[in-house]
Amino acid sequence: MKIAIVGAGICGSVLAYECIKRNLNVTVYEQDRQKQSCSYTAAGMLAPMAELESANTNVYKLGLRSLVLWPVLVDELTKLNHSIFYRDNGTLVLAHTQDTGSLAQFHSTLKRKLDDFDDCVSSVSASSLEPELKHFNHALHLKKEAQVDSHQVLTALHSVIAQQGEFNHSHVHTIGSHEVNGDYYDWVFDCRGLAAKDQLSLYGVRGERILLHAPEVNLQHMIRVMHPKYKLYIVPREDHHFIIGATEIESADDGPMSVRSALELLTAAYSVHKGFAEARIIRMDTGVRPTSLNHQPIVDVKEGLTRINGLYRHGYLLSPAVIEQALSDDLFQQKRQQRVNG
Ligand SMILES: Cc1cc2nc3c(=O)[nH]c(=O)nc-3n(C[C@H](O)[C@H](O)[C@H](O)COP(=O)(O)OP(=O)(O)OC[C@H]3O[C@@H](n4cnc5c(N)ncnc54)[C@H](O)[C@@H]3O)c2cc1C
Repeated sequence: MKIAIVGAGICGSVLAYECIKRNLNVTVYEQDRQKQSCSYTAAGMLAPMAELESANTNVYKLGLRSLVLWPVLVDELTKLNHSIFYRDNGTLVLAHTQDTGSLAQFHSTLKRKLDDFDDCVSSVSASSLEPELKHFNHALHLKKEAQVDSHQVLTALHSVIAQQGEFNHSHVHTIGSHEVNGDYYDWVFDCRGLAAKDQLSLYGVRGERILLHAPEVNLQHMIRVMHPKYKLYIVPREDHHFIIGATEIESADDGPMSVRSALELLTAAYSVHKGFAEARIIRMDTGVRPTSLNHQPIVDVKEGLTRINGLYRHGYLLSPAVIEQALSDDLFQQKRQQRVNG
């Protein structure tokens, strides 16, 4: 079965990998050679509980399913000799004194929305998990959350696609049922993110994040800091690298980070751990999250064409589960069966 996938962000890349695993003949079209798509900006957090603060149960359930699927995917890529940083020791949610009201509110929202609250969330003193955070007394530990290194995952998936499928680095100008740039395919998947906004009702939500190298900081858990404006995270990566993010601004502007955002993110990091004062700024990134009007992922299936989009804040969290859903769709499965039967 000849499959075309347009877009090799996290969505198109996981999809391509899953199709290759199912012995389908895959061509991936990706125009971006500069690694600037939204998926390269992501912090790679797999945080369904923290996201439940503002997301609904559909996103939560898909997120839980992805938490099962991610370790399998990471394991498979590791066996193919790709090194992927994956950690599942949870998220620590903290607040400065002036924001303890927000932490209490966060706690009660999760308690109301989570059936298995006691299995997922513990009240702890921050220093019991992070000895360097002695100045925070009360914290919540979201025990089941995880993270992956987004760049490493994309690099590994792209390498599998290049070796076992076809990677076509051209711009797609026409896409439709069974057709990409005039070529016929048994099925086409449109994973173009925000570029599909004319076909699906999407808008952009700009996000900025900073990568720091901070040898004096030894945090081991993802840290969510209550903040009046943003859902603010410190995400530890390997070798004392930390992602500080992310802003959330309704705009499709993917231009460089503003001074205001840089000040807010860096101040927040420094307020949590003074060791960030001597950190080196490795890079500042901006991405625009492809967002549907109701903030839900979209899997839109017609004969010969599936559009997967609207992954918003959750592209890494949701991709494995959403793609599992898309590949088990009846129309797609019927076509696959027809091709098997010849
Ligand atoms: C600052 C920030 C932090 C984030 N952190 C997290 C996080 O911690 N966890 C999480 O789950 N999510 C996070 N996200 C959200 C996540 O990044 C997005 O949900 C995800 O990247 C969307 O992936 P996608 O593959 O749908 O779209 P994209 O990444 O935008 O990929 C679409 C691809 O299609 C290609 N394309 C478009 N048009 C064409 C064309 N005509 N021809 C060929 N190619 C084309 C583009 O070049 C692009 O590579 C974050 C986002 C931001 C901005």
